[in-house]
Amino acid sequence: METKAAPSNFIKNIVIEDLQSGKVQKVVTRFPPEPNGYLHIGHAKSICLNFELASEFKGHAHLRFDDTNPVKEDIEYVESIKQDVAWLGFQWDGLFFASDYFDEMYKRAVILIRKGLAYVDDLSADQIRESRGTLTEPGKDSPYRTRTIEENLDLFDSMRQGEFKDGEKVLRAKIDMASPNVNLRDPVIYRVVHAHHHNTGDTWCIYPMYAYAHPLEDAIEGITHSICTLEFEDQRPFYDWVVRECEMENVPRQYEFNRLNITNTVMSKRKLKLLVDEQVVDGWDDPRMPTISGLRRKGYTPEAIRNFVRETGVSKGYGIVDARMLEHFIREDLKEKAPRTMAVLKPLKVVITNYPEGQVEMLEAENNSENPEMGSRQIPFSREIYIEQDDFMENPPNKYFRLFPGNEVRLKNAYFITCNEFIKDEEGNVVELHCTYDPETKSGSGFTGRKVKGTIHWVEAKQAVPAVFRLYEPLILDENDEDGASFLEHLNPNSLEILHGYVENNMKQVKAQDKFQFFRHGYFNVDSKYSAEGSPVFNLIVSLKSSFEV
Ligand code: ATP
Ligand code: MG
Repeated sequence: METKAAPSNFIKNIVIEDLQSGKVQKVVTRFPPEPNGYLHIGHAKSICLNFELASEFKGHAHLRFDDTNPVKEDIEYVESIKQDVAWLGFQWDGLFFASDYFDEMYKRAVILIRKGLAYVDDLSADQIRESRGTLTEPGKDSPYRTRTIEENLDLFDSMRQGEFKDGEKVLRAKIDMASPNVNLRDPVIYRVVHAHHHNTGDTWCIYPMYAYAHPLEDAIEGITHSICTLEFEDQRPFYDWVVRECEMENVPRQYEFNRLNITNTVMSKRKLKLLVDEQVVDGWDDPRMPTISGLRRKGYTPEAIRNFVRETGVSKGYGIVDARMLEHFIREDLKEKAPRTMAVLKPLKVVITNYPEGQVEMLEAENNSENPEMGSRQIPFSREIYIEQDDFMENPPNKYFRLFPGNEVRLKNAYFITCNEFIKDEEGNVVELHCTYDPETKSGSGFTGRKVKGTIHWVEAKQAVPAVFRLYEPLILDENDEDGASFLEHLNPNSLEILHGYVENNMKQVKAQDKFQFFRHGYFNVDSKYSAEGSPVFNLIVSLKSSFEV
């Protein structure tokens, strides 16, 4: 993979300073997903930031599964996350599971209890919430806050032994119920959950809370710069408290940056899971999903995703990125890579009445006009071809330069044809055109006799390969409703359109994930789920034009 230096940003500047001052000898970062869903494009931003910092400064980047919540986690997610990080082009310097540290985390909690800094509480989750106070009012001490160290050690041990039901008891840090930072008002650090864990099985029936576990995971692994999104900013004092009071040797520092938000894009695993569970989409990798696997199946490349997230920048400011910016980067990436061929998505048959019956000639077609190195191919031409239904109008408006009765157009890579006649079915739909061609106008012959204003694409009818085209629009209509609970009511009913048409004869053997530019349509990718040998299915990656420029 190309090792492009990441653009400058405030976190990178901190790393540079820490290395120069000698505070840090080697940078160690981590990407710490919870395996409770598939990764999305927002995660890609965090992945790029962490892995690129490590590689640029010859440090290490860990892939760590933050698997402290057994109820929502699954090995399927672990595998998909590994696949996606690797596909994005990154190699981790170590694969870790937070659950491997459960023993250590337990021991550290005992240290807190011994220091009088943690206590077992019998209040319910609701009672704890109610007594926490507000931003303007202090919280209230739990009646169990004054339990003795001995009593707490004993109860915590009983929690571990499975003597309590879910929710019956928790272990809380003992800090300050009047702290202006609500996160320091005796946060819960362990809870009882009788659930099977994908890694530790039934060994544990108490599990550490994220805010307690995460700083310990970072410290245990020797992470130097623990990079997370801005919503964790208020957690930083507790993060530092845990590292300090648990007497961790390594002291990681947390830095927060802006989350990636994209217009018309749901970006929360919880919501994405809902789309999968409700079968709104055909899986986590549905091409309409903003997941890495969905973008891959749609036809996005790792390069395009990396370039996009780099461009979105790392800062502390809130922002929402235009979805068209992501499209810009895939166009840029495929422009010179994808072969350009012709596909007819909504076919209309054309008979070229003056072309000899039974004759087939081969015509030369360039594979990519912007990249001559891609060479050319031979495509058949004969008396019967397909064009797009939209490329003919019986009664055209002004400035319609394609086919209409009496008008002449250029067939890309072939000849000029003139429309003489059209045939309708009983319902009045045009089902066939009769045209004549001018043999003098062959593409590449240097013909300059006259000009035509329209150039349209086509495929030779007998040898054309039937193909299915899946066209996508955003799943969500109201971009501002991203956080509303009712987002399922704002689904776009037209997010998927399926068309049956044809591609060129030479495309029978395409393989899953092959990418093409279909002349005048856009970039398409061979779908990995529905495509079969000889009958390709194409996903629209992105149309050709956009008003968006970076
Ligand atoms: P979600 O809310 O979608 O479930 P999460 O933050 O809960 O995301 P994690 O698995 O905990 O998911 O995330 C792993 C890492 O990815 C975290 O460090 C998190 O900050 C980062 N991350 C998640 N979403 C985004 C985003 N939209 N932009 C940038 N980083 C993100
Ligand atoms: Mg999370």
